Amino acid sequence: MKLTPARPSIHGETLDSLTALLTAHGHPGFRARQILAWLYKKRVRSWDEMTNLSRPLRTWLAATFALDPTIFVLTKQSEDVTAKLLLELEDKALIETVIIRAPQLGVGRENSRKTICISTQVGCAMGCKFCASGLEGLKRNLTAGEIVHQLIQVCRLEDARTPRARAELASFDNIVVMGMGEPLHNYDAVIRALTIVNAGWGLGFGARRITLSTSGLVPRIRQLAEEKLGIRLAISLHGATDEIREQIMPVNRKYPLKELLPAVREFSLKHGRMVTLEFILIEEVNDSLDQARKLRDIARDLHAHVNLIPCNTVEGLPWKRPSLTRQEKFARVLDDGGVSVTLRREKGHAIDAACGQLRLKTEKAREAAAL
Ligand code: SAH
Ligand code: SF4
Repeated sequence: MKLTPARPSIHGETLDSLTALLTAHGHPGFRARQILAWLYKKRVRSWDEMTNLSRPLRTWLAATFALDPTIFVLTKQSEDVTAKLLLELEDKALIETVIIRAPQLGVGRENSRKTICISTQVGCAMGCKFCASGLEGLKRNLTAGEIVHQLIQVCRLEDARTPRARAELASFDNIVVMGMGEPLHNYDAVIRALTIVNAGWGLGFGARRITLSTSGLVPRIRQLAEEKLGIRLAISLHGATDEIREQIMPVNRKYPLKELLPAVREFSLKHGRMVTLEFILIEEVNDSLDQARKLRDIARDLHAHVNLIPCNTVEGLPWKRPSLTRQEKFARVLDDGGVSVTLRREKGHAIDAACGQLRLKTEKAREAAAL
């Protein structure tokens, strides 16, 4: 069943679309910039706070748009490195947005980053075997406004943490489109949302600090390469051969490595930036040293960075992470081969930080409560 919110979110409007809508309804087009400034510079919570707009315009806005398309439900904190926001949409669907203040342990180096991870769909249609988001299929796409609003919620949470200094989105190092959903399966809304996040009249966040992660929808990767936005790309590889990848990622049957890798290369050449290959380490599935060597060859060939992620256990799924020694051995093969590699020290296990887990648990609890 596809449900869409009753009123569109104003956070899904671009400067152009809002100007056009205003003029079509007899309001001055220049008001668009003022409205967007209230939304993104002041982050107001009510239409009435937009004090330089006329009352009829505010009334029209309130009747036309939703101002808060997501409602904050709860946040879970883990060792002060990961905070997970559970947000409810107008149709009661739940999504997750994650703030990660985690040091990343590279092989031989360490760096610390503040990252926001946003969702693009309710559920996911891709059905990867290790992923909580895909367990119950796709419920619906998020609208551009729902995607953008997750960042407003993050700023509000930060404001509450540091009441005196207003939190700016720019204080974050990165935004990663790696939450629930396959972003390239909701292409138009995602591009529109990222345009708003990036624009000076929007959230003004640099495109080079935004990374979109995909399970590998080849035609869309090619389309993304043509966009003016200039965001970074990460590929959820998780298998260095078709045989292994196919076992855990059904999408590989449609877009096998011989199609995926050339598309990634093209993207990389076009953007002049390293692409990241994400590789979840799952015990006895893809953690052999043979996979490590093949991954090393792929990464070298693409001149890509590799991010190794010990898999999170997901309730109801059989997968386990390899031992630390095994993880390090795997990483060593890449490092020795001259590949830029990071081994993610897993954070947030205690708060169900694996993609989609918190939402799944909350939905199960809600269902149980309704019985
Ligand atoms: N659909 C996109 C982006 C969202 S998934 C994609 O697949 O790239 C974001 C990341 O979370 C992906 O790299 C995914 O593989 C990872 N992930 C999913 N389940 C996981 C688990 N159980 N443990 C660790 N990472 C997981
Ligand atoms: Fe979807 Fe990504 Fe999860 Fe695969 S890993 S099911 S593509 S969200």
